[in-house]
Amino acid sequence: MIGKEKQRLVAIREGKVLLNSAGMLPAADDVRVSAAGEVFRYGNCKAHYTNDASPSGCLWVGVRDSAAYLGADWIAVAKGAELLNWAVSTRFCSVCGQPMERASEISMRCCGCGREVWPQLSPCIMVLITRGNEALLVHAATFRGPFFGLVAGFVETGETLEECVVREVKEETGLQIKNLRYCKSQSWPFPAQLMIGFRAEYAGGELRFADGELTAGGFFSRDNLPQIPSGPSLARQLIEDWLAED
Ligand SMILES: [Zn+2]
Repeated sequence: MIGKEKQRLVAIREGKVLLNSAGMLPAADDVRVSAAGEVFRYGNCKAHYTNDASPSGCLWVGVRDSAAYLGADWIAVAKGAELLNWAVSTRFCSVCGQPMERASEISMRCCGCGREVWPQLSPCIMVLITRGNEALLVHAATFRGPFFGLVAGFVETGETLEECVVREVKEETGLQIKNLRYCKSQSWPFPAQLMIGFRAEYAGGELRFADGELTAGGFFSRDNLPQIPSGPSLARQLIEDWLAED
């Protein structure tokens, strides 16, 4: 008989998640840390904030950096981080100002007017634009390092994903694109983004970075790449997919 899989603990403190000595999420039965605030349960995970110090043999690793240890299991940390951030930012009703309380595993209800709310995602497009054998890689002032990534931006109210891609590319680079197609998506819990990845081809225009979001960039060939994003980011995946086509 196969035993029930152990519940894993996603304990987060000050933007870091607790990993065991093997660099994995610890089994909830194996470590003792107290919960601070709401506790969320999903899959075989239990997620909560804690103010406790690291138990013996465990260490705190940045939520983003933990992807390097956890691989595919990182999505459990991403989900926990997103839910916990949502809970602390949804403590009061935005309509009547009364306190909110948990109504279900993924909803909160206002104690005053009864309004129920669920976590809201911020859809954000990202696009890899090719021109012949080159791809457009850009650097934004907001990047957390000197690497070059992809054009990205938040979807606006009343806009389709395709319209958003065309608008963001035009605004941030001055370029026109063609043959736009969807590739893949990714949950990105900083704090609650759904990243939606596209590919497109250069159709015209002169590259310029006029609106201030991007500070550098250009079309790069596969054998002349600048530093690219690390870790589990969708930008990294889209760039690697393009590299693999060579
Ligand atoms: Zn209310």
